[in-house]
Amino acid sequence: MAASILIVEDEPAIQALILASLKRAGHVAVAAGDAESALQQINSALPDLILLDWMLPGMSGIELARLLRNEERTRRVPIIMLTAKGDERDKILGLETGADDYVTKPFSPRELIARIKAVLRRGAPQATEDPVQIGGLSLDPSTHRISAGDRPIILGPTEFRLLHFLMTHAERVHSRTQLLDQVWGDHVFVEERTVDVHIRRLRAALETSGHDSLIQTVRGSGYRISAVPSAIV
Ligand code: CA
Repeated sequence: MAASILIVEDEPAIQALILASLKRAGHVAVAAGDAESALQQINSALPDLILLDWMLPGMSGIELARLLRNEERTRRVPIIMLTAKGDERDKILGLETGADDYVTKPFSPRELIARIKAVLRRGAPQATEDPVQIGGLSLDPSTHRISAGDRPIILGPTEFRLLHFLMTHAERVHSRTQLLDQVWGDHVFVEERTVDVHIRRLRAALETSGHDSLIQTVRGSGYRISAVPSAIV
């Protein structure tokens, strides 16, 4: 599954090179030339990952990373810092600020793609192609197939993404706002009750095989997928 990646880089040649490599690797990539326009892009759509240049005109990459880590909405978006600085102290400062990884310029596009894949696998497993399984329900992102035993299950695109997210983050409870950010990519124009509508459709599709009971409502908190039957509430 393609990840949406925001590149924050002020050097046009490097920005163009990264954009082209990410698109070739199947990702959806957008670019910003400074921290201020990056923030505007993030406000309208939350990316799966941010590639962030250290040295930017105006607000620096470090300051932007710090800002994103302090905001509830952007706290969990993985950040890979791009920088010409190879020195250990800068590396540590970058990681302390909340970056998930660090790539030193010049880097090869292949190395960058591999690092992105590793960070996504750690922080956003729903953005990778790995098949997932829970309680007899299997989902394969690369073929877009879901099955309960050997019976195929047909879902709409939003229910597919919702189920994929829940399955890759099983047992944890997610609020409606978190689900909107993670599954819809942007909560700005979508109402919270939209989540309930799609949860209802997802349960209806899973009903015939009895897997609807995997999707649990946690009163006052949100939803989770669990192979463990929920306690009586
Ligand atoms: Ca720069």
